[in-house]
Amino acid sequence: MAVTSAVVRPGVEAWQALSRRTRGRRDGMFAWLIGVLTTAGAFITDRGWETLDDPGWSGAYRIIDMFGLASILLALSFSVVGSLLRTHALVAAPLVLLAAAVPHSMDGYRSGAVWWLGAAAAALWAVIAAVRAWHRLCAVQRLAQASSTGRTTTVGPNAVRARKRALWPGLLMLLLFLATACGGWALAFGTLPAELGRTYEELGEESSSNMFAAAAMAASIMTVAAAVQQGWRLFAMGRVGRRLVWEIPAAGHPAQWWLYGNNDAGEVSMEAAEAPGCDCLAEFRLVVPDGEDELAAGAGVPASDYCLLHGIDRINAMTTAEFTALSGETWLWDMASDLPEPADPEAIRFRLYGFCGHTFGGIPVREDRGGVDAVFPGVPPAHEASVAEAGPGWDKPRRPEAGVQDTIDLRPAGYAGFAFRYRHGRAWFETAPSTATG
Ligand SMILES: [Zn+2]
Repeated sequence: MAVTSAVVRPGVEAWQALSRRTRGRRDGMFAWLIGVLTTAGAFITDRGWETLDDPGWSGAYRIIDMFGLASILLALSFSVVGSLLRTHALVAAPLVLLAAAVPHSMDGYRSGAVWWLGAAAAALWAVIAAVRAWHRLCAVQRLAQASSTGRTTTVGPNAVRARKRALWPGLLMLLLFLATACGGWALAFGTLPAELGRTYEELGEESSSNMFAAAAMAASIMTVAAAVQQGWRLFAMGRVGRRLVWEIPAAGHPAQWWLYGNNDAGEVSMEAAEAPGCDCLAEFRLVVPDGEDELAAGAGVPASDYCLLHGIDRINAMTTAEFTALSGETWLWDMASDLPEPADPEAIRFRLYGFCGHTFGGIPVREDRGGVDAVFPGVPPAHEASVAEAGPGWDKPRRPEAGVQDTIDLRPAGYAGFAFRYRHGRAWFETAPSTATG
């Protein structure tokens, strides 16, 4: 199930110009606001306060009464919860207002015009948002074309599965809404015949068909919104390219990626562990008998403290120059330490498979057997978050204060800080304060 993908590597500036935060929440809020204002405007136009205590309908109950009453319930519900719908509100607002506009104008309410006006404004806003989303998508597509490296890589089965899996929640939501809508309409039209032609008093001052119709309308509208989102996502994936691996600059990295980042400090790659002279794999098998089966794809094994090749004595016996030359090796570093961070921001990269902008952040992948793969198939897509969002709760462990053997300045080797070697442990990397001289 592995697929070959092209590698794209955007420059830091080009990437930062692209990765502005999505305005989905704000756009959705504005759509909701149009809904609220229209509902309030319709209430005022119809002088709704004068008829608050009047019967829900006068004379015999008609089909249009069901739709009219349901649309009022729908508009009121949208005014209450619409702000939580985020981008779905963009699609929902014009449909909610349209659902009210049709029965109100057919039934000769003065508010008919207000509902139509609101529906038109909400539709216009949705079109504006769609055009902006289109431009953003084109920008992603252009960046992909402009930053092509000409390289290809193999994407492993975990990442391929994770990308497909990311589409499931949206599809599931769509089907749930669709089923609810069908059920709601069945109930509405099932109860309608018994209520048609009855007066408000005869029906005990309530009708169930309009309740069911309101729920059915809401579910139908959400079905459309979910379908639009899912369709857009598939379209965006196809347009930018499904078979792309992005090597994105770490600056402004997506928060989720951090959690599944490849901090394999303190590990020996499987290849190195299988080489003669290394005891790491043997010790790992001794300590965790079934551990190999549970290793994630591409993961290494913990380096043994006593391995002649990767043990603590080997690390501490190296000269400064030897250590510096090997500082890219993961096994030099304590498991809780960061790996040395390159000083050049161009050099710090995360890999995302299938990224196509805000609609799909891509699956975080890392190097694996000559290609790339996700750590496990359930890895959620990356999403962009501000540093503030990514920061709290992420308490970095601090290096121990006691037992330092020596400090090695790795900046001449192109890293952003120092290595601290420990007499009884692996080394720690610490970023140099930006105020430091030299
Ligand atoms: Zn070893």
